[in-house]
Amino acid sequence: MKAVDFFYLLKPLIPRRMQIGIRRRRALIKRKRNPGKWPIDPIAGRVPNDWPGWPEGKGFALVLIHDVDTAKGLGNCLKLMELERDLGFVSSFNFVPKGYHLPDTTRRKITESGFEIGVHGLTHEGRAFKNYRTFSQLVPRINEFLKEWNAAGYTSPSMLGNLRWVADLNVAYGCSSFDTDPFEPRPYGVGTIFPFIVPNLAKDKSYVELPYTLPQDHSMFVLLQERDNSIWKRKVDWIAETGGMALLNTHPDYISFAGNKHALEEYPADNYFSLLEYVNGRYKDRYWHALPRDVAHFWKTTFPMDAAYSYDGTSISASNRVASLSHGNKYFRKVKLALTCSSGGHFEQMQNLYQFYQEFPRFWIVNKTPQTEYSLSSESRHFINGAHFRKPWTYVVQAPRVYGILRRERPTHIISTGPGMIGFIPFLLSRLLKIKFIHIETFSHVNHLTKMGKFIRMFRHPIFSQWDGVELKNVLSIGTAISNSLPVMQEKRSEDIVFVALGMREHAFPRIIEAVESLIKEKVIEGKVVIQMGFTKYQTELAETFDFCTPAEINRLITSSKYVITQESAGIVTKCLRLGKKFIVMPRDYEYKELPTKSDMNEDLHYKLAELGFTFVVHDKEQLKEAIGKIGQLKTDFRFDNSRAIAILKSMVESG
Ligand SMILES: [Zn+2]
Repeated sequence: MKAVDFFYLLKPLIPRRMQIGIRRRRALIKRKRNPGKWPIDPIAGRVPNDWPGWPEGKGFALVLIHDVDTAKGLGNCLKLMELERDLGFVSSFNFVPKGYHLPDTTRRKITESGFEIGVHGLTHEGRAFKNYRTFSQLVPRINEFLKEWNAAGYTSPSMLGNLRWVADLNVAYGCSSFDTDPFEPRPYGVGTIFPFIVPNLAKDKSYVELPYTLPQDHSMFVLLQERDNSIWKRKVDWIAETGGMALLNTHPDYISFAGNKHALEEYPADNYFSLLEYVNGRYKDRYWHALPRDVAHFWKTTFPMDAAYSYDGTSISASNRVASLSHGNKYFRKVKLALTCSSGGHFEQMQNLYQFYQEFPRFWIVNKTPQTEYSLSSESRHFINGAHFRKPWTYVVQAPRVYGILRRERPTHIISTGPGMIGFIPFLLSRLLKIKFIHIETFSHVNHLTKMGKFIRMFRHPIFSQWDGVELKNVLSIGTAISNSLPVMQEKRSEDIVFVALGMREHAFPRIIEAVESLIKEKVIEGKVVIQMGFTKYQTELAETFDFCTPAEINRLITSSKYVITQESAGIVTKCLRLGKKFIVMPRDYEYKELPTKSDMNEDLHYKLAELGFTFVVHDKEQLKEAIGKIGQLKTDFRFDNSRAIAILKSMVESG
């Protein structure tokens, strides 16, 4: 049985006071375990791409909602509403349709006062949302209440369930997630203080998810026993600074209007109202205060549906599969991660999973390059030499070294983004030493597995893919590992160079330079040309050339370019996509000895991207010429979102 289900099964048998006592202890431990992550997770402050700002030029947004869990809470609603209105605020009240009787008069009073009504579950029981099938059966009934109440929003009881299921409902928005909250039964934050669009599993409907961004009242005042609302204020200050959305979900069930005399699970109403006064006093006229449905409307009109495209690329069956793999929350488990990959694109993909691994003790096993040395200077790391399957003895040399590291560090999980030159040996040793091994296929493989993926699959070991394309048993899509919102250098530069990248492969690739050179002569390529040559030795007067540089320098070159011509390189391609830069891919060809083996030609990312309209793949000078001629047709709005990958990895690691 899953831990969450178990809890709900036993819950009625445990006296409430004892439940609270247990949860208080757990909350304190969780708080200690999450420094630098709660109440503020700095990463959650990243601004969405193409962010135009809030309406009326306001600096941040303020949204107030109330989940009304019980009849007791219902009794407090009108009073709460009137006090809010007196202070000049509006809010929404989310009622449980099958939880208690909601009089029509109450509903009408709320909506007629310019407040909003939403639906909070069907019953308030968490088990109803335990799987997609159960939830699907409830959808028509929840939709009936949404219609009857003229409601646009839905919130999940106890933040259970799944955002993509919610998208099956007839809703404009939902609030069933949070930026960071280790105290929830499933502590997987979405890592943003901005709304985002969620498509349903069939991808024919979507809604705007509004994560709550101020800690829950129950966690703050009942579990952590905070005496005042200074945590709320601190978080509001931070949100005001970053320009996100302050969304506070308070429960009338726990609010006491009896001053400081309050019961076990209550807190003084003043904790809430003094926050409103604080916001109004300190930030007067600087925030956009709106009802959740107005925020949803604004968001949907600002960001069209395709913004949601890469939220998740998984199918229903894959999703169920993942859910069953990842269920349960053992937040107390001692986790230690070994992060293993080679430098370059594999390394960058791992780094993009920062929000996942930063929560756990960890160390790295990587090969030593300027990139890994520099980026990991403040991390615990072990350098090993990469091996190659053509030189089997290189693995024999690697094995005792990796074995020594694993014995000393004793990780609970090894996370790999490949490739085999670094990952094979850790995988084999993980079986010997009984360490969990999680392999994520690289972004560059769309329709088939890497050598490492194929190898691991021979052991029937599950594999995560970043695309939908591989339809094999034990291969699950988790969406991209790469995040669009990691800070990339966005400074505006004059876009006047053409940047040509040959990467770091040891085989020479003069064909691409010859093609570029002759197109410069033909004046097809105009302006300054900068070529990163790597290991290719080639003399040309027509371009500025250099061999290698830092990743930051590559970013700068891409940013400064009109367009980029590159070998097939997930690293460069990803940077171009993230920086919204047009690029043409000229793959290396084994026939010309530009690659060590034929199987190295397996990367199909650029073909997938060509199919999606983000690049042209060319094989010779003539094709390159043609591609440059129609470069204006390329799209530049690719979106990455790794929230699903992060949630799945976290839950897998936490559930053992
Ligand atoms: Zn609730």
